[in-house]
Amino acid sequence: MPRNLLDDIKETLISAEQIQQRVLELGQQLNADYADSEREIIFIGVLKGALMFMVDLARAVNLPISIDFMAVSSYGASTQSSGIVRIIKDLDASIEGKDVVVVEDIVDSGLTLSYMLDNLRSRNPASLKVCALLNKKDRRTVDTQLDYLGFDVPDAFVVGYGLDYNQLYRNLPFIGVLKPELYR
Ligand code: 5GP
Repeated sequence: MPRNLLDDIKETLISAEQIQQRVLELGQQLNADYADSEREIIFIGVLKGALMFMVDLARAVNLPISIDFMAVSSYGASTQSSGIVRIIKDLDASIEGKDVVVVEDIVDSGLTLSYMLDNLRSRNPASLKVCALLNKKDRRTVDTQLDYLGFDVPDAFVVGYGLDYNQLYRNLPFIGVLKPELYR
């Protein structure tokens, strides 16, 4: 196990400052878009990857939002999407008639997100939008909705700011690329 996480990072893709700046911009966009909504607004974070993003994004909006979390199965110890999505932790509250914003860490193949959106849509929210920090658009295998986006990233396995490899590196404040020898 690394004692200094930085030793395992090949390069920084997006700095902590760039993330913070972009999160503020996304917050302002959401403030403007939902300013006239008279419905309840709920941000749904996808655990655990979206944790940091949710915490910062929620503080960047001045809307009366509630926050809920969902956990779905993801990569586990591998770096490839299995295509199998399972709900491990469901929402605490109903989203029926509410304005829902799904807060995701990264959209890769799109499988996880499209499964989640189908599932959430069946619960009859008034509206359903997606805000993702990162997008690996070259890897998309299913078409998915993406309403708010932080950054496009190249096809490399990234960690930091909530994103893990084997549950580590989530606490890095930036987005970086792991040294490939660590997961090959
Ligand atoms: P998808 O279903 O779109 O292929 O994958 C979505 C999920 O896979 C993300 O929510 C994330 O948990 C994981 N994932 C995809 N790409 C990466 C990556 O580059 N780094 C990390 N740490 N997780 C990733």
